[in-house]
Amino acid sequence: MLFMETILEEVSSAKPLRSKASGSPDASSSYCPPIPANCQFFTTTLRYANPSAFANLQGCPLHPEIRGLVLFYDLGDAILVQASVEGLSCSSAVCQNHFFAFHLHSGSSCAGTEREPFSLAGGHYNPEDCPHPSHAGDFPPLLCSHGIAWSAFLTDRFQIQDIINRTVILHEDSDDFTSQPAGNAGARIACGVIYQVEEP
Ligand SMILES: [Zn+2]
Repeated sequence: MLFMETILEEVSSAKPLRSKASGSPDASSSYCPPIPANCQFFTTTLRYANPSAFANLQGCPLHPEIRGLVLFYDLGDAILVQASVEGLSCSSAVCQNHFFAFHLHSGSSCAGTEREPFSLAGGHYNPEDCPHPSHAGDFPPLLCSHGIAWSAFLTDRFQIQDIINRTVILHEDSDDFTSQPAGNAGARIACGVIYQVEEP
C-alpha cells in the first residue's frame, strides 16, 4: 500500500528530540514518556517492530473510497496503536469539523444493513461496564487533512488477546466525549475486523 509506505517513511525519518546541552538524545528529558523512557522508542517501534494485530478498514457503501490500516504493537505495559486512513471527505474551509470519531467495538463482524452499516460490530468494547468515553475501546478521534488521517497513540485499556476478532469503527461525526453511550458520533462509515499477525 503506497500510502502506508509513504507514511512509514516519513515517521522513520523524523528527527529525534535532542538535549540542547549535549546534542544527544536525553532520556531524562521532560519531553520523554515514562514508559519506556526513550524518546525514540515509539518511532523505532513503528519502523522496525512487527505489529501483533491489524485491521484493514473499508468504507461503507456510501463511502466506498475510504480505506485504512490500523496496527497494534504490543509494548507489554501498553499497546501502541497506529491508524492511517485515506479517502475521507473533509472540507478545507475554515471553521469546518475535520474530526472523525474512532472506536474499538465489541462485535466480530463488519456486516450490517443498508440502513445501518456495520451494525453487527456492536457497541464500544466495554468489559468493565464503564460510561463513555471510559470504555476500553474508546480512542482519540482522527483528524482529517486533505482526505487523509494518521494517528499514533498509547492505550493500556486492553491486551492484544482481548481484541482479536473484534472490530474498529470510524464514524462520520466527531466524538463529544460526553453523550451516552457512544459520544453522539453519528453513522458508521468504515469498519475493519482485527486479526492477529501470524508469527513468521
Ligand atoms: Zn465509548
